[in-house]
Amino acid sequence: MIYWILALVLLLSVSAYMRLALLQWSVLLGLLLLAFQFFSPASSTFTTSLWLLYFVIIIPLNLPALRRRLISQIVFNGMKKVMPGISQTEQEALDAGDVWWEAELFSGKPNFDVIRKLPKPVLNAEEQAFIDGPVEAFCKMLDDWKITHEDYDLSPEAWQFAKDNHLFAIIIPKQYGGLEYSALCHSQTVIKIGSRSGSAGVTVMVPNSLGPGKLLMTYGTEEQKDYYLPRLAQGIDVPCFGLTGPDAGSDAGSMPDTGIICKGEFEGEKDILGIRLNFEKRYITLAPVATILGIAFKLYDPDHLLSDAEERGITLALIKPDTEGIEIGKRHFPANQAFMNGPIRGKDVFIPLDAIIGGIDYIGRGWSMLMECLGDGRAISLPALGTAAGKMSSKYTGAYARIRTQFSTPIGHFEGVEEVLTKIAGQTYAIDAARLMILSALDNGTIPSVLSGVVKQQSMERMRKIINYSMDIHGGHGICMGPHNFLGRAYQLIPVGITVEGANILTRTMMVFGQGAMRSHPFLLKEVAAVHHSDPAKGLIDFDRTLFAHIGFVISNKVRSFWFGLSGARFISTPGNAHTRYYYRQIVRMSAAFSFLADVCLALLGGSIKRREKISGRLADIIANLYICSAALKHFEDEGENEADLPLLRWVCEDALFNTQNAMKSIMKNLPFGIIGKLCNIIIFPLTKPYQQPDDQLGHDVARLTLTPSETLSRLTAGIFVSDDHDDATGRISNALDHVLATEDIEHELHNAYKTGQLKNRGYAAYDEAKDKKLISDNEYKRLKETQAAIRNAIKVDEFSFKDWKIETP
Ligand SMILES: Cc1cc2nc3c(=O)[nH]c(=O)nc-3n(C[C@H](O)[C@H](O)[C@H](O)COP(=O)(O)OP(=O)(O)OC[C@H]3O[C@@H](n4cnc5c(N)ncnc54)[C@H](O)[C@@H]3O)c2cc1C
Repeated sequence: MIYWILALVLLLSVSAYMRLALLQWSVLLGLLLLAFQFFSPASSTFTTSLWLLYFVIIIPLNLPALRRRLISQIVFNGMKKVMPGISQTEQEALDAGDVWWEAELFSGKPNFDVIRKLPKPVLNAEEQAFIDGPVEAFCKMLDDWKITHEDYDLSPEAWQFAKDNHLFAIIIPKQYGGLEYSALCHSQTVIKIGSRSGSAGVTVMVPNSLGPGKLLMTYGTEEQKDYYLPRLAQGIDVPCFGLTGPDAGSDAGSMPDTGIICKGEFEGEKDILGIRLNFEKRYITLAPVATILGIAFKLYDPDHLLSDAEERGITLALIKPDTEGIEIGKRHFPANQAFMNGPIRGKDVFIPLDAIIGGIDYIGRGWSMLMECLGDGRAISLPALGTAAGKMSSKYTGAYARIRTQFSTPIGHFEGVEEVLTKIAGQTYAIDAARLMILSALDNGTIPSVLSGVVKQQSMERMRKIINYSMDIHGGHGICMGPHNFLGRAYQLIPVGITVEGANILTRTMMVFGQGAMRSHPFLLKEVAAVHHSDPAKGLIDFDRTLFAHIGFVISNKVRSFWFGLSGARFISTPGNAHTRYYYRQIVRMSAAFSFLADVCLALLGGSIKRREKISGRLADIIANLYICSAALKHFEDEGENEADLPLLRWVCEDALFNTQNAMKSIMKNLPFGIIGKLCNIIIFPLTKPYQQPDDQLGHDVARLTLTPSETLSRLTAGIFVSDDHDDATGRISNALDHVLATEDIEHELHNAYKTGQLKNRGYAAYDEAKDKKLISDNEYKRLKETQAAIRNAIKVDEFSFKDWKIETP
């Protein structure tokens, strides 16, 4: 009998693993029962009872009409009572952008072709010339200290250069005089400029991101495009976009700003149909210098001049700043940065209807227009700025840790410093990979709305850590502000990146899983739509079909998770080689576990998951870490699978899997019924915890990559601005590193001489003694002294006069 039970378990498990249809496994079960009847010694009464059971359960399950009446109708009615409908704003957010790799992660069975078939992101010759030419030249014009501390603005020459060279027109089509470059080129531009000056980086990224340019390109009428886009491309106009106000920050959809359709006077013309606006916006980037204001407001038509409906919804319009009633020009001072940012207020401002972006056809569609356009900008600008910070830290903090000695040892050789250097380099590899993979999707026509939020949130969160670790390593050198400090302003910029384009906490806890589950889950949205179908009979048919497919999906993910847990995912067929296949397999394993766990959470928490942000935030962490692990694998392969880069890849993948495991364990620990969490734990992690933090040896290998130049380090830090000025904030560190590496052998000899007692002194004090004792030549002595001077120059911090705060750096 035991063999028959085993055969039954095997049949059910294999059917679930292979995701066989209900009818298929019903037939297989029938065949097993038939075999049991003929070949087992069981009594005929027992066999007959089994057949009865089979028919009572299996037949209704396979007859949709019966199944609907007996099962689905009851669930359908229950769901109708508890499941909230989808509001228009939610629907618009759901409809915006595309579903991409996140759907594969939700499927529990990701198809790696979706990402592996994307070509490696590469700049074309024209784009490369743009980066090497105008962007490089622009960087050379930037003096971040002068910008942020003395002028509180870019120099007039830098502004003009940016306009003349179309730096604000990267995304505008060529037919309107713009550059029409790829998302990759846009990102590389922000990386390079951002690595020179955060304020300049933000100034350039905003017009190229969400704003009038993007909105006009996507929705503008032909007249609007023909008028505004050439002006934006030539830099005649500077745009800004105002969504946020004092009462509407994260919850921007609740804005109190109004537009009333009425008749009024515009530019001397009387009695024309238009909109009277009253609004208050703040934090608006470029507003103080903008010549086109994009404004979002709620439109009302109380006198029914355009339609019967009174409330027309969120609408977007373009306004000139000299329009009567507009107050503009004051500045905020965000985190000691000098990019232009300020409030805009409008009191009884009258604009004609043709100021509406897209014309009257787009009245009330403002929210979906913003959601649609937000996706790509969010995936490009801030991730580029975060990556710039990572690359700068990997290159210059690594170099600093090599040139700065304490206790006669480069500080980067101390394990404590090494530990954080590892995280700087590892996290930089992670966000660079995350950035490049989504750019690849964007440049191939996909706008992943959920993953754009993930990449923004993760790159900012990791940037925050990278810069903090860098600050630790630089000590006072990072803290004392002045023209020689490349890190302090980046540190101050952190909260800007965290807050804008979807504040990080909100994005993580509310948006990623909330939107991700609705958009990417294979059945959830269909079930919600079926429950709220206008024709309940049709809704029930859809619901029944989806519900049973969903149940099969959950069972399959459960079986797959358990089997992968038992087998360590060893037998899954995935791409990859001896170094990478393990990680591919673990992604499949964790994807199945995630799908299963997400369904358990949804079943237990239902609509209240929106409020259980600690749970949904951890579910978002799982999506984010699986995305980063996949992106790292793609990046490694795109870069040519260099063995020297393996420590970085391994560190990122192991860290991501460890984070995934932690997030899952924390969810299971905090589910409403403890026993369910424990059962899930047995299913997902049957043999305790499979993933560990990257070990110390791997961490050591990663950290060492930052201390000396190598091809791996060049790949990791590619794209930032590199100064060859030996007194520049970063150029002096590179110069000192070159000297240190060139005199390393001599230092080594001196060290040995000290150990064998030939020298009494160590460090700088040994140079004269070694020269006097003829242990080193005059030339070697000279080189050591030059190195000493270069280090001294690299570690100096700025000094200011006591009275008038003038720079007096020696
Ligand atoms: C430098 C800078 C430039 C900007 N540029 C522009 C611009 O050009 N145009 C524009 O329109 N806006 C701009 N903004 C506004 C920016 O988009 C908002 O600051 C952002 O939306 C957050 O709003 P808030 O600052 O009012 O914070 P709040 O909305 O008050 O949020 C405060 C905190 O609460 C959290 N929070 C809020 N709701 C939830 C929730 N449901 N669940 C979990 N956490 C939640 C947030 O994550 C945040 O951590 C800019 C802001 C800054 C600082």
